[in-house]
Amino acid sequence: MQYKVTVVGAGNVGATTAQRIAEAELADVVMVDVLADLATGKALDMMEAAPVLGFNAKITGGGDYAPTAGSDVCVVTSGLARKPGMSRDDLLAKNTEIIKEVTTQLVKHSPHTIIVMVTNPLDAMCEVARRVSGFPRERVIGMAGVLDAARMRWFIADALKVSVEDVDAFVLGGHGDTMVPLPRYATVNGIPLPQLLPAETIEAINTRTRNGGIEIVNYYKQGSAYYAPSAAVLDMVAAILHDKKKILPCAVYLQGEYGLEGLFVGVPAVLGRKGMEKVIELELSADEKAALQKSADAVHELVHALPSV
Ligand code: NAD
Repeated sequence: MQYKVTVVGAGNVGATTAQRIAEAELADVVMVDVLADLATGKALDMMEAAPVLGFNAKITGGGDYAPTAGSDVCVVTSGLARKPGMSRDDLLAKNTEIIKEVTTQLVKHSPHTIIVMVTNPLDAMCEVARRVSGFPRERVIGMAGVLDAARMRWFIADALKVSVEDVDAFVLGGHGDTMVPLPRYATVNGIPLPQLLPAETIEAINTRTRNGGIEIVNYYKQGSAYYAPSAAVLDMVAAILHDKKKILPCAVYLQGEYGLEGLFVGVPAVLGRKGMEKVIELELSADEKAALQKSADAVHELVHALPSV
């Protein structure tokens, strides 16, 4: 393949992401995990599916970073996943240590790569990777908004009994309970959502979107969502590698946009071969602005609580 993508963490999200990327023939994939044999075994298992499915991408796995050298994109999923009763924020200290170590290794072997962060608490882990890598903001991007928006899009499609292909939606803010679904900017084949659903139904969809992660955790009991998260990562990696200039909601290090400074917050951004190429500033109502500020405050609190990086 023309491109190489490293996926750190061969757990649920990491392995599913590797599988999706390879099956789409987007890139060769190197999986790295502290559980080296897990990564090696899953890579082999996926390769043994290749003759049946007919994809030509190569997947390898192990515990060593040398094979990751020269990766175009590095997806970071290493860390602990939430258990029932555990908030994303409880993960902070443990995952900070993991992300520090992983980022150092990735940058050493792929100094020009683009990091797509997945590990939670997402916005804070993006900041750890930014600080440790020293990369410009274009090359450290967090995956959350595509997933949150996908959940909202599914709930809308299901409520209206229409094709998911017709539904677009945006979710701003941090990847936590304070995220800000934007039904005003949701459309169904161009028709604004508020013209199609009553306000109470839209509010119920907003609430379900905010709780979308925990809804799955409560079903799984062990671990958190991975089918939709890995699909969201695929969308971002494809936009980057194919230089699509696709507008996707991503966690971006803001430098004054939306009145926010020096903080990763979910906003619409253009993704292309250089990574996060442009932040799109939407016009927000007073309520939406207040909700975004509240969400940014929650991210700020977390970043403030980060162990020294
Ligand atoms: P998982 O437990 O299935 O996999 C995590 C993997 O990371 C494990 O295989 C583990 O061995 C590995 N790992 C731990 N420390 C490591 C290290 N130092 N180096 C390399 N590998 C290491 O968890 P999962 O379900 O795949 O979730 C992974 C992360 O993604 C979690 O933090 C979870 O909360 C997060 N997540 C984020 C989103 C999002 O929207 N941003 C969505 C889903 C999951």
